[in-house]
Amino acid sequence: MHNVREKIGIYPGSFDPITLGHLDIIGRSSKMFDKLIVGVLHNPNKKALFSADERVKMIRSVTGHLCNVEVTSFEGLSVDFARSVGAHVLVRGLRAVTDFEYELQMAQTNHAMCPEIDTIFLTTDLRYAYLSSSLVKEVAYFDGNIEMFVPAEILPLVKEKVMEETQK
Ligand code: ADP
Repeated sequence: MHNVREKIGIYPGSFDPITLGHLDIIGRSSKMFDKLIVGVLHNPNKKALFSADERVKMIRSVTGHLCNVEVTSFEGLSVDFARSVGAHVLVRGLRAVTDFEYELQMAQTNHAMCPEIDTIFLTTDLRYAYLSSSLVKEVAYFDGNIEMFVPAEILPLVKEKVMEETQK
């Protein structure tokens, strides 16, 4: 049973890999809930660089200082995941207007399916407004410096993984 008085939020995403932009959203939104659960989407139809387990481990390693943050992977719909953990709020980050149309549509679809769950949007810190996991991967593939994009702890893991992939 979930403690009904506990305010639980989920922050779902691919996080392939986690960036400083994601970490900023996690830190800020964790203050709004008793518990924030970062949900790593395992989508078997989409090829990810890191496995869901690897992504979970990386996020745990960079959120250890946030004691009300949990990280877990899930499959399927975010609203089903939210329900299964007793969350009523879904957190998403907005970087620019380009994110807006898709995010609005998704929030409305989720709300239609599950009216007791609301989506809240946090605007990105301007330092990370341009940042995306795909950009990080692209730069890393060409051996560019990704130090200012990802948390220091996971930097070697991203480099190693990209190297493995390019040698395949
Ligand atoms: P998804 O595949 O679900 O879009 P992502 O891992 O790309 O998953 O992103 C998860 C969430 O984090 C989304 O709401 C996305 O808009 C947000 N996000 C991604 N990059 C940033 C960033 N640099 N700053 C703030 N929010 C971000």
